[in-house]
Amino acid sequence: MKASRETLACPSCALRYSLDERFCASCRMPLVHVGGEPLKSARTEAHARARKINPVYAEGDLVRVAGGRNQPEAELIQGMLLEEGVPSILRRTAGFDVPDFLAAGPRDVLVPQAGAEAAREVLLEADMAPQQPPPGAGQGGAHAAKLVAAILGGGFITALLTWGLLQLTG
Ligand SMILES: [Zn+2]
Repeated sequence: MKASRETLACPSCALRYSLDERFCASCRMPLVHVGGEPLKSARTEAHARARKINPVYAEGDLVRVAGGRNQPEAELIQGMLLEEGVPSILRRTAGFDVPDFLAAGPRDVLVPQAGAEAAREVLLEADMAPQQPPPGAGQGGAHAAKLVAAILGGGFITALLTWGLLQLTG
């Protein structure tokens, strides 16, 4: 019988790691807890983050769901996704991985395939829907999201008005 001591595992490739590790060496995925009982309290921020990850969303290849114009913005998106249990990694947007852009420059936010749909819903709600490269022309996605939100909002208002009319006439 295997010891049921808590260990960490990569949500992508299932490699096991000790509690000292934070990310998978090969996939760069934030590690998740497996086995054992959950920690009473988060010992480190990394553990707190890992505990939020829903394993359901940790399957499959990494797909790009969003982009940040810079590291802080990308981390903001990452945090929003994590709140919904979706693990993600940041990657420098292709074409910007040159020294001038190492510190700054846009970042891609990638999530496992299984979490992509949940991630897109989170981003849509937050009006940060996927922006497609090329950078600089990347506002189209956000505008589309606003349009969708406007249409949905308009539909809601129409429904309210209809309901109100029904109340008046009924
Ligand atoms: Zn891995």
